[in-house]
Amino acid sequence: EPHVAKFVYDFTEGNKDLKDLLGGKGANLAEMTNLGLPVPPGFTITTEACKVYLDSGEEPAALRDEVSAHLDALEARMSKKLGQADNPLLVSVRSGAKFSMPGMMDTVLNIGLSDKSVKGLAEQAGDERFAWDSYRRLIQMFGKTVLGVEGDLFEEALDAAKAAKKVTVDTELEAADLKKLVTKFKRIVKTEAGRDFPQDPREQMDLAIHAVFDSWNTDRAKLYRRQERIPHDLGTAVNVCSMVFGNLGPDSGTGVAFTRDPASGHQGVYGDYLQNAQGEDVVAGIRNTVPLAELEQIDKKSYDQLMQIMETLENHYKDLCDIEFTIERGQLWMLQTRVGKRTAGAAFRIATQLVDQGLIDETEALQRVTGAQLAQLMFPKFDEEAKVEQVGRGIAASPGAAVGKAVFDSYTAVKWSRSGEKVILVRRETNPDDLDGMIAAEGILTSRGGKTSHAAVVARGMGKTCVCGAEELEVDTKRRRMTVSGGHVVEEGDLISIDGSSGKVYLGEVPVVPSPVVEYFEGRMHAGANDADELVEAVHRIMAFADRKRRLRVRANADNAEDALRARRFGAQGIGLCRTEHMFLGDRRELVERLILADTDAEREESLKELLPLQKQDFVELFSAMDGLPVTVRLLDPPLHEFLPDITELSVRVALAESRKDPHENELRLLQAVHRLHEQNPMLGLRGVRLGLVIPGLFTMQVRAIAEAAAERKNAKGDPRAEIMIPLVGTVQELEIVREEADQVIAEVEAATGTQLKLAIGTMIELPRAALTAGQIAEAAEFFSFGTNDLTQTVWGFSRDDVEASFFTAYLEKGIFGVSPFETIDKDGVGSLVRSAVTAGRETRPDLKLGVCGEHGGDPESVHFFHEVGLDYVSCSPFRIPVARLEAGRAAT
Ligand code: ADP
Ligand code: MG
Ligand code: MG
Repeated sequence: EPHVAKFVYDFTEGNKDLKDLLGGKGANLAEMTNLGLPVPPGFTITTEACKVYLDSGEEPAALRDEVSAHLDALEARMSKKLGQADNPLLVSVRSGAKFSMPGMMDTVLNIGLSDKSVKGLAEQAGDERFAWDSYRRLIQMFGKTVLGVEGDLFEEALDAAKAAKKVTVDTELEAADLKKLVTKFKRIVKTEAGRDFPQDPREQMDLAIHAVFDSWNTDRAKLYRRQERIPHDLGTAVNVCSMVFGNLGPDSGTGVAFTRDPASGHQGVYGDYLQNAQGEDVVAGIRNTVPLAELEQIDKKSYDQLMQIMETLENHYKDLCDIEFTIERGQLWMLQTRVGKRTAGAAFRIATQLVDQGLIDETEALQRVTGAQLAQLMFPKFDEEAKVEQVGRGIAASPGAAVGKAVFDSYTAVKWSRSGEKVILVRRETNPDDLDGMIAAEGILTSRGGKTSHAAVVARGMGKTCVCGAEELEVDTKRRRMTVSGGHVVEEGDLISIDGSSGKVYLGEVPVVPSPVVEYFEGRMHAGANDADELVEAVHRIMAFADRKRRLRVRANADNAEDALRARRFGAQGIGLCRTEHMFLGDRRELVERLILADTDAEREESLKELLPLQKQDFVELFSAMDGLPVTVRLLDPPLHEFLPDITELSVRVALAESRKDPHENELRLLQAVHRLHEQNPMLGLRGVRLGLVIPGLFTMQVRAIAEAAAERKNAKGDPRAEIMIPLVGTVQELEIVREEADQVIAEVEAATGTQLKLAIGTMIELPRAALTAGQIAEAAEFFSFGTNDLTQTVWGFSRDDVEASFFTAYLEKGIFGVSPFETIDKDGVGSLVRSAVTAGRETRPDLKLGVCGEHGGDPESVHFFHEVGLDYVSCSPFRIPVARLEAGRAAT
């Protein structure tokens, strides 16, 4: 028998796991039906049918008959026929994709009403007003969403009718008024859509179904999908559901509810209810809703039943659910449920609450939270108690709370910030020319563009607060001001506050409070009785679940004792990357300059000798901060010219001195050195191990400093665990030479100090050649640390400093990247090199230690990848450590 596609499922045939096929709404309607909950009967047309329709422009051939068969069955069951004059069955046609997509098509209710059946409905219900109210709603919704008539036209006509009658709410309109309104609405349809409102019920239904299909591809829907990274080829399902009526008088109504508070996670009665209303009325704000708790007074029986059902749903879905319900003359009906959205804080609380209730276990609890949510909880927030004046809202593009003076161009942003002012850069949209201003600003605010706009992408990359696409703001860069909602004008220099986690824009300076979660990690806050403490308690427990579960260890990228101690408090199990170049800056610059300028071996040795004790002291401090934990020290990596003055500034200085006939010998030499060291492409030039090989004594000085520091700590009964890491190795020969010298120095220090140091020597894997020859390199390396920043640059052949602001926005918009490869590891390219280097390295040396120290070490998705390829640890900035711990735990479930 050939396989025949099935395009329509009765609610009794589906279940919650069929979201791909039935959409979220359809799958959950089926689930509730099968749980025996009161769901009005109906059926779902699959996403497959939608896909065929969208691909070919036509319904699949079998669809019409399948729909007819299901409609017949529905009619038989309800003992009514769709739109039949004397006893009409009415249905709603509802969209419902796999992922909930606000801003897609609206649902059409009351399908089946016509000039004839409206009278039948009136008789059926014994309520003429109700029937005409339902009919005017149908024409309004159908006109707007199926026939594309401007919705305001209906709203205006409705307002006019209320005004004529001198009433304020729609329920005060009587049957006669509504009858007139229907005539008016039909006229609007005729004029605007150029056709009559269809009187044939099946035609109404079919047109509505097609409109739902088509709504998948509206600009709004496409934009939303791009922003939320929802694939474009899923299609939407269509639900046809028999109508129940909340607009049948005071013993009827409609409401929404949550099984627990989506903001705090607390159990209780959360929701809104509106008497004598239909569909969206409750959220549309046309009349004042009452808190759900009041339903107990209005209709105790329905209320009790609803509470019962909410409990059933929570126990069944084992999670917070949100629901839509309607009461028709004292009879409760369930119209929708789904696992509800929640704030980051509630996600942690709910996960632990459900564990306590015995509904889920620790492993499942880890699946209920994300590293991104934890990161959100770690940003400072605006004080919720503070008096605020919100003047706009945009897209929450990059989290954080920023306060500063509004400036409208980059030049001013840089100038003001140099003079110590905090500024918020406000632009209509940003482009690469704004980069300096963005760096200088506390936060970035734009009135145009979405989550992948230039401003959003760059700000996220920099970890800077950003609100974009705040459309109410009228930004006038020429006059250096903007008009905000309410008409207030913000001039250059006026204080504003932006919340990158909510997208809200405020006038003035909103006070910022530190995150309680960070206070907790810092050891300044403990679980207790108040609200913030409850959150901290939940985070504390989830972190413990993650730590128990994870295989990956988490280390920090830290260069000084202060960062190291903080990292330790945040749970770091060592330092995966200590960059020594930071130890060459500040007052030591002069010593480094002398080293670079040295003409003779003696001169060079002299400056190295002066650097040695300084370096050693740095390491002593670091090793004692990290006592008992591994500390990977990377030898000097960046090109030397980075330690010299800027070429233009220096040239000017030298030229001036010459014109004064007072040339300064040292500056001249400095300039010559700058010229000598100048490279077109410093990133690919004389740096890393190459430096160590051409500047005699540089690396051995660093190794000596490490070894002597370790020996000193040992002799002071400490437990130093230093590891020496060689950067930018491309071939094993480089490593062998450095290693030989290092081993010799270490032996000397051991002999001189009477210690046994056991310093491991390993390398970064950050060049494609290193990854490709990892098997050979492992002969000379006791550990590998994947430097995925450089590896990404060299594998893709682009420089991070240059491209993120130039063509990345275009690439993201065109979908070439879903996300910047500097943010999340490019699994197919860079990742596959990592994978093969892991295998080859371990083949040569089974106990090879493997880690990663690029930015990716703290990125949730990348952490999962590193877990999967079998690394031993990830290393990331101290602030990201909790996120890495959590994601490492999640990866192991
Ligand atoms: P959305 O996805 O926008 O929530 P829905 O399909 O859920 O759209 O429907 C919009 C409103 O209409 C909701 O309040 C819903 O409860 C109500 N509704 C949908 N179908 C029916 C029905 N058959 N009877 C009564 N109300 C309905
Ligand atoms: Mg809904
Ligand atoms: Mg590097």
